[in-house]
Amino acid sequence: MAVLSNPELLQKYLSLNQGNKVQVEYVWIDANNGLRSKTRTIDFVPKCASELPEWNFDGSSTGQAEGHDSDVLIQPVSLFADPFRGGNNKLVLCETFNNDGTPHATNYRHSCKKIMDLHADAKPWFGIEQEYMLFDPETNKPYGWPKHGFPEPQGKYYCAVGAGKIFGRDIVEAHYRACLYAGVNISGVNAEVAPGQFEYQVGPCEGIDMGDHLWIARYILERVSEDFGIVVSIHPKPIKGDWNGAGCHTNFSTEEMRQKGGLLAIERAIKKLSLRHSEHIAVYGEDNDQRLTGRHETGRIDQFSYGVANRGASIRIPRHVGIEGKGYFEDRRPASNIDPYRVTEVIVQTTFLPEDYKQ
Ligand code: ADP
Ligand code: MN
Ligand code: MN
Ligand code: MN
Repeated sequence: MAVLSNPELLQKYLSLNQGNKVQVEYVWIDANNGLRSKTRTIDFVPKCASELPEWNFDGSSTGQAEGHDSDVLIQPVSLFADPFRGGNNKLVLCETFNNDGTPHATNYRHSCKKIMDLHADAKPWFGIEQEYMLFDPETNKPYGWPKHGFPEPQGKYYCAVGAGKIFGRDIVEAHYRACLYAGVNISGVNAEVAPGQFEYQVGPCEGIDMGDHLWIARYILERVSEDFGIVVSIHPKPIKGDWNGAGCHTNFSTEEMRQKGGLLAIERAIKKLSLRHSEHIAVYGEDNDQRLTGRHETGRIDQFSYGVANRGASIRIPRHVGIEGKGYFEDRRPASNIDPYRVTEVIVQTTFLPEDYKQ
């Protein structure tokens, strides 16, 4: 069921010339790790986010301010092409600020950017694998699941092809192409283990770009699935029971790790990660305890573990990295509903702790 009642009629209006005006969609993160946006007409074609004016929104309607002092400032920080309006129109991701100029309590980009700037010389790269599940708003069940009962158990859905195994490929394809159009560094997509569950990968992205590109990829998925009348869930355990949860595996490397002999730097970083397991879990997503059970390709939430090619560990060193002796590692703990700014910030912080660091 498409939400839009008459796409052909809409097209009549959207094909009207918009003159030399540009529509810029200001996107920001709300108090519940969700996304909001509103549009502003600009009379030039912006080349970068900093050319765009600051704006504000009513924070009392997003859980981000009290009614008597409700303006929250939004400052454009990262510019993308708008795949929905096309042409010169743009999407711009914004940071949120209080009236006194301090970053809003829900603005995790601000401190992340400082840490990324501090360690820019190390060229930190990330790749995040965003898992999600599509839901049918009419049945409140994952898209493609039967009205009554359950689909056949997991086994045939991961990377599947064919009717009865894949539900929602249109959305996956539309999202992938729209991300490429926007300039999001999307690196792939695949169908996941549970029916109606998918993944896209964003990266490698350097520093702050990881959070920026993932948030815009999420925004685009929300908009695409809105068009199709489908709801996206990034809850880490959308369906209880013997169905895989959803994560945001975070792949990480520094320049040193990517060079010859880099495995030593990877092992040093993993040692430090092992000393700060709970500090990381604290920012690795709400309800992650429902997912990190030690089953369904996860490590347990209360134990740190690592291994080459081990998908039941907290940290996995991909087999090819073990063989080549350089590359990156995968932190499998982050949940699908993370704020990527918090996750990338803490990974960089821990990696650059002093070598004699003791908890
Ligand atoms: P998996 O085998 O865990 O399913 P994927 O292929 O889904 O892995 O995702 C791997 C991610 O790692 C991709 O986003 C990719 O861009 C990223 N990646 C590749 N090389 C590096 C690197 N050197 N540093 C950080 N991330 C990397
Ligand atoms: Mn993957
Ligand atoms: Mn996956
Ligand atoms: Mn993975």
